[in-house]
Amino acid sequence: MAPSFDTIVNLSKRRGFVFQSSEIYGGLRSAYDYGPLGTLLLNNVKREWWRSMVQLRPDVVGVDSAILQSRSVWQASGHEEVFTDPLVECKNCHNRFRIDKLEDTSKCPNCGERDSFTDPRAFNLMFRTHMGPVEAEENMVYLRPETAQGIFINYENVRRTQRLKLPFGIAQIGKSFRNEITPGQFVFRTREFEQMEMEFFCRPDEADDWFRYWIEERKRWYLDLGMSEDNVRFREHDQDELSHYSAGTVDVDYRFPWGWDELEGIANRTDFDLRQHSDHSGEDLRYFDQEADERFHPYVIEPAAGATRTTYAFLIDAYHEEEVRGEQRVVLRLDPRLAPYQLAVLPLSKKPELTGPAEELAQQLRPNYMLEVDVTQSIGRRYRRHDEIGTPYCITYDFDSIDDRAVTVRDRDTMEQDRVSIDRLPGYLVERLP
Ligand code: ATP
Repeated sequence: MAPSFDTIVNLSKRRGFVFQSSEIYGGLRSAYDYGPLGTLLLNNVKREWWRSMVQLRPDVVGVDSAILQSRSVWQASGHEEVFTDPLVECKNCHNRFRIDKLEDTSKCPNCGERDSFTDPRAFNLMFRTHMGPVEAEENMVYLRPETAQGIFINYENVRRTQRLKLPFGIAQIGKSFRNEITPGQFVFRTREFEQMEMEFFCRPDEADDWFRYWIEERKRWYLDLGMSEDNVRFREHDQDELSHYSAGTVDVDYRFPWGWDELEGIANRTDFDLRQHSDHSGEDLRYFDQEADERFHPYVIEPAAGATRTTYAFLIDAYHEEEVRGEQRVVLRLDPRLAPYQLAVLPLSKKPELTGPAEELAQQLRPNYMLEVDVTQSIGRRYRRHDEIGTPYCITYDFDSIDDRAVTVRDRDTMEQDRVSIDRLPGYLVERLP
């Protein structure tokens, strides 16, 4: 059964995945800090995305562009004019809502007042700040609301310096900022978040094939990392739902505790972005195809995912409660590539004759695995704790280990235990952990 919303929020706080930002000052709404375990999980999600999108591919390279970009970028991209949500305010309680997210537009969901909404007005979602000491309009810049534009404005730099030929992609992972009207559902919708975006440039006549290709690739990624097939769906936008620049969009939705909601959008953005930047900057961003002797703006297929949102979905998906010998067990069945710790090293007691060699063993394993040495509480409770944070293998060093030079390795999912000699342990782990 899927965990409730509160279950995941509680687990996140209790075990150190996610904390409310500025908590000791009462908390800053819709901003979150990732704790030690959340940081590991988030980094693993990002690393796996990068591995599949860049490292394992001959045709994609990466960039890391600035969060602060020229205001002209956002004028050219259309964000200054149209990156808005339709906002209404309840005249009674003064709460504000996105009208497109309201189920019933005749009644305020906060105070219950009827027909109390103002007319919708367009609210721009970009955060503003100023560059330099003078807070004047001409010094105003936006914090980027997406990582994609940082790719488009570097298209020619990257193509030229890397000597790339179509088709090729440019990937980026980084923070984005949106002044969301209705943030919420924990880290699902926040005002500061992380994205994983890739722009794949191709010939216009091949765009539709690449669009289909990337839908399949992204599906493979989620399922390969263990997301349950029943909880992910790929939903094609209707014609009237499409953004003005898009010739096709598929949303990757996850079945969150409150229902289906978006994890990623895969879009055929046509040549909209490169054309806009060519027009506004005066730089010719067309591609020259030598063989065909023609110049054109490439089409772009964009898989745009949220790193923080996807991390949240993997956490929910991995959460299981089960009964073991009359006791409740919580286990995070995270893929070992995503689990915060791959290993826990547990000396059976706090006695130095066990903690000393256990620490020595841990030190030998640390170059290859993220691990934790845990000495507090009974061994049963330590197993439970590592089940709950998703550690695939616990290695216990006990009194027999001193003489037989072997340890007990416990599997998180099956709870089966193997006695493995310390000499053979590296080989044993290589077979089971990537
Ligand atoms: P939504 O409809 O949920 O506002 P969007 O369609 O505007 O999202 P995109 O602009 O396509 O989102 O951004 C790509 C991805 O970035 C989204 O699928 C999501 O995973 C992530 N994302 C967007 N906004 C937020 C946010 N406020 N908090 C967390 N992640 C976000």
